[in-house]
Amino acid sequence: MSSPTRSGPDRCPGALRVHAAADGGLARVRLPGGRLTGPQFEALADAARALGDGALELTSRANVQIRGLADGAEEELAARLSAGGLLPSAGHERVRNIAASVLTGRDALGFLDVRPLVAELDAELCADPGLAELSGRFLFTVDDGRGDVAALRGDIGLLAVGADAMALLLAGADSGVRVAPGEAAALALEVARDFLRVRTAEWRVAELAPGALRVPGERGEPVRVPAAPRRVPLGRIPQRDGRTALSGLVPLGRLDPAPLRGAAEVIVTPWRGVVIPDLTDVPHFQGLVTAPASGWEGLTSCAGRPGCAASLTDVRADAARTRASAGAGLPAHWSGCDRRCGRPPGRHVAVVATPDGYEVRLGDEVRARSRDLTATAAAVATTRRSE
Ligand code: SF4
Repeated sequence: MSSPTRSGPDRCPGALRVHAAADGGLARVRLPGGRLTGPQFEALADAARALGDGALELTSRANVQIRGLADGAEEELAARLSAGGLLPSAGHERVRNIAASVLTGRDALGFLDVRPLVAELDAELCADPGLAELSGRFLFTVDDGRGDVAALRGDIGLLAVGADAMALLLAGADSGVRVAPGEAAALALEVARDFLRVRTAEWRVAELAPGALRVPGERGEPVRVPAAPRRVPLGRIPQRDGRTALSGLVPLGRLDPAPLRGAAEVIVTPWRGVVIPDLTDVPHFQGLVTAPASGWEGLTSCAGRPGCAASLTDVRADAARTRASAGAGLPAHWSGCDRRCGRPPGRHVAVVATPDGYEVRLGDEVRARSRDLTATAAAVATTRRSE
């Protein structure tokens, strides 16, 4: 089910449309709100161990990828995901991209608990066959007002501006339209249908001509959308019910699921981390970085070699090797070619492999070029501190 685009068909991978990567098949499983029940997490972990390379790869939209699938593993993967309730609609499996406030309803922040709204949005999305025509890149964001996912610049966003009102965001900007939470899912999906009606070759709302999407409705005072996600802090977070959530980063997004087995719920974050909520005792989860100043914060990478045939080098290894000296400040994203897959939204330092080493860029400006990894790390650190 492909969508026409400016640059060809939509090749975004899914759980059923496996991408042939250099290290085997790659399946991407959408997780609305990033949420996995304990049994769903076990099902994914079992599938990764039995059919893939054993790891779960976290994406910048709080989805999960399994890599290293053998030819013909798709059928068994689909059966496992269906049994775990992770494939509610085969036709919509690539378009269930819904990022939501990670700790909504659990901690003291946010105007309302958006979990029911996410469930409604997902169910209604899957109930409309026409919406399966959205691109696999099309993103809904549902932010409870804390500003952790509104800044992801989703195609259609809902941002709570009070307990009884949500702002409709289009391509990450305030449209001015306000809607009651109970009507927000229906409005978001109506806008998505409008997008499919007015588009010609565009994948994303941001690619439409200005004013192409006209949304009638009540208007409100302009709201400022955060420029960068206000991330959940690392470590222990007190919940309103007296229990504790543990927030951790997963270095470069490669999660060994074994230490997390047995958790009642796992929430994948859009900044390649996980939150384990509802804990009474807080165990140590090996592989999770829960303390600040580890050097992993704000450090991301594409797959690079050997997973991606387009990569000029093993960027994961280089990012990890230079972590201790790569500084802090702006996020830094390493990529093996100029496509810069998985780069974070907003201003960040791009570390891009070229045939002549690495280029360090900030926006359109090239700050450094070097074949030497130590010099590259120094330039990354300087550039990260520059704003
Ligand atoms: S940025 Fe390039 S090297 Fe990295 S995963 Fe994308 S296509 Fe492959």
